[in-house]
Amino acid sequence: MNNFRFYSPTEIIFGRGVQKETGKNIKKYSSKILFHYGGGSIKKSGLYEEIITSLKEAGVDFVELGGVQPNPRLSLVREGIKLCREHDIGFILAAGGGSVIDSAKAIAMGVGYEGDVWDFFMRKTTLTKSLPVAAVLTIPAAGSESSQGTVITNEETQMKIGFNSPLLRPVFSILNPELCFTLPQNQMAYGVCDMMAHIFERYFTNVKNNDLTDNLCEATLKAIIKNAPKLLKDNKDYNVWAEIMFSGNLAHNGLLGMGREEDWASHAIEHSLSAVYDIAHGAGLAIIFPAWMKYVYKHNTGLFAQFAVNVWGEKPEDTEETLAVKGIKRTEEFFKSLGLPTRIKDILNPTEQDLLLMSGKATAFGSLGNFIKLDANAVLDVYKLAL
Ligand code: NAP
Ligand code: FE
Repeated sequence: MNNFRFYSPTEIIFGRGVQKETGKNIKKYSSKILFHYGGGSIKKSGLYEEIITSLKEAGVDFVELGGVQPNPRLSLVREGIKLCREHDIGFILAAGGGSVIDSAKAIAMGVGYEGDVWDFFMRKTTLTKSLPVAAVLTIPAAGSESSQGTVITNEETQMKIGFNSPLLRPVFSILNPELCFTLPQNQMAYGVCDMMAHIFERYFTNVKNNDLTDNLCEATLKAIIKNAPKLLKDNKDYNVWAEIMFSGNLAHNGLLGMGREEDWASHAIEHSLSAVYDIAHGAGLAIIFPAWMKYVYKHNTGLFAQFAVNVWGEKPEDTEETLAVKGIKRTEEFFKSLGLPTRIKDILNPTEQDLLLMSGKATAFGSLGNFIKLDANAVLDVYKLAL
């Protein structure tokens, strides 16, 4: 186990009806906020009205900015920064999924910085201060509700880049599984794939002797694999959503990666795909992760065999090679069973030139990953395996 520091201070407020306490929880930090949301799902579900009521009851003033799109855009982030400065706002509430929360985090980073907020994403400057952010989560997926990351798309350069800082962890996040009842099946599946991917990025590591975190990763994956298919039949089962929502949070609050060396190549490879084609992050991961697994598993067949046995329940009698291949196949089949694409050609038709362009974008800051380092040529091979 490697040395580590664990600091994941986001307060998680979990359960039925907890969104009604949004205003009360904000009041401890601020009386004037930016209320940031997406394309309208919160208006349709009634959450928007509930939040406004709770803000008014708590005496919290707000300026609102809706319109965050999936794969959140830099242009709206810049608009949010301007709005916060004009209204002297020092706190941001995000109501929605990873896209809204990431947009809120990027606005929070930019308000106190004199240059352009994209400088952070291009590694031109470091973050020393950021406004506090809180979230009301409506889709279990990205884990941004307690992660230290934000991922923004620069629509002019078609680059989607992540930025991490401990300053970006929300101060609190409100998680009510009932808010997931309005999610369409495809969004549920995208979210499930993303949270599984967050665990894979941590599980496949070169660091040895991680009994505890191996088990935590495997247990979280098993809870997701057991519960997600139930949502295909009944999308309004509170207890099933509760398992999925808490799993999505644990998958990315940092705990499962402690003492390990995390990978994150597949995320960067996916980000290029969703930057160029504007597809859902979870759909891209269902395509890229099985291909990445096929590309790298021989580097540690034993770990992939352990994955097949402990997560997928394969019988340990087979050889490590057979088990490793079975585990990858089971992963791909599981994604398919949720209605996810698992090959690029299921949804897109890129040329060789397009694949080259995406490999270049994915490796703009150098080689990817830790399990095995992937340069632009290796990334191109992963895209080809994913075709
Ligand atoms: P999302 O992009 O925030 O939302 C996807 C769609 O679901 C939107 O159209 C949204 O509609 C809709 N939706 C959300 N909640 C709903 C509900 N309860 N009922 C009906 N529709 C609902 O999805 P996400 O997967 O959470 O976020 C994806 C983004 O997060 C990607 O850009 C990905 O790269 C990023 N990401 C971030 C991190 C991190 O740590 N920061 C980690 C992984 C991924 P509305 O817009 O109308 O609300
Ligand atoms: Fe992700």
